[in-house]
Amino acid sequence: MKLTSVLIAAAMATLSNGALAEEKILNLYSARHYQTDEALYTAFSQQTGIKINRIEGKEDELLERIKNEGANSPADIFLTVDAARLAKAHELGLFSPLTSKTLEARIPSHLRTEDWFSFSTRARVIVYNKSAVKSEDIQNYADLANPKLKGKVCSRSGSHPYNLSLMASVIAHQGEAKAEELARGMVSNFARAPKGGDTDQIKAVAAGECGVALANTYYVARLLRSTKPEEIKLMEKVGVIWPNQSTTGSHINVSGGGMLKTAPHKEAAVKFLEYLVSDQAQRYFADGNNEWPVVENLKVANPALESLGTFKADKLPVKNLAMYQAKAQIILDRAGFK
Ligand code: FE
Repeated sequence: MKLTSVLIAAAMATLSNGALAEEKILNLYSARHYQTDEALYTAFSQQTGIKINRIEGKEDELLERIKNEGANSPADIFLTVDAARLAKAHELGLFSPLTSKTLEARIPSHLRTEDWFSFSTRARVIVYNKSAVKSEDIQNYADLANPKLKGKVCSRSGSHPYNLSLMASVIAHQGEAKAEELARGMVSNFARAPKGGDTDQIKAVAAGECGVALANTYYVARLLRSTKPEEIKLMEKVGVIWPNQSTTGSHINVSGGGMLKTAPHKEAAVKFLEYLVSDQAQRYFADGNNEWPVVENLKVANPALESLGTFKADKLPVKNLAMYQAKAQIILDRAGFK
């Protein structure tokens, strides 16, 4: 072999090795920090030989980081919670549109967009103190504005994505005027100024500081699964309502993600997204945070979720939730829902 061909052969070997090595790595930016996620990622690496480099951070920080890294970002996948945050990544043009028969077949159409996909769902429910409030009075989100509940409503911040997404769903279904009515009514029913997270609201309801509050189901389920005697006692005082059962269904939010436009390992990224809708991954994904899988008719063994029973979920496309985020914030601000 002539020297030049040896060099070319060597160069080609290096190139193909390089390309191969490239496909065996996945850089995952994740705002999920649940213990069972470890098993989720390990199983993927075992099945595919693709090593996952995980960068974890707070939702908004990760988004900021990807934005700042720009075209040089090593990120292949961005995973986070809440439709509002996923929509923000979309609006910033960070996600790459992708068509995948697997994702289309496994994820119901209202839970996906052309560039980001939901992998688990959670509902926003009404929790109430059983000795302070009658369940008949709080069957719908709109009931939280009823003057009957004066001084009894507690909430986390109005600018938190969970409340923004709920308000966005009200705008989508009933229009801005109704949304504003709800926001104003809730504000005039507040037991205290908004503070804390969903778990704090549930605890305040149990303690009788508030009569009612909104909470995502996984916070309720987490407390229901608690083995701490004080939390078991706490939850005996709390009732849970699936709102809007005779109308639109309970508001659903999601955790999800997508492949980034600048992803250096696109093939691995698609493989990973498709893996996330496998039965095995869906179980890890949902059980890790007491959520529901997006894949229909998949059985999850989670006693806390089972104890909450079945319910009618709002089928509003996640895309629409995202569409009304900005409007929702304006309305909540105007209503003084801080
Ligand atoms: Fe949360």
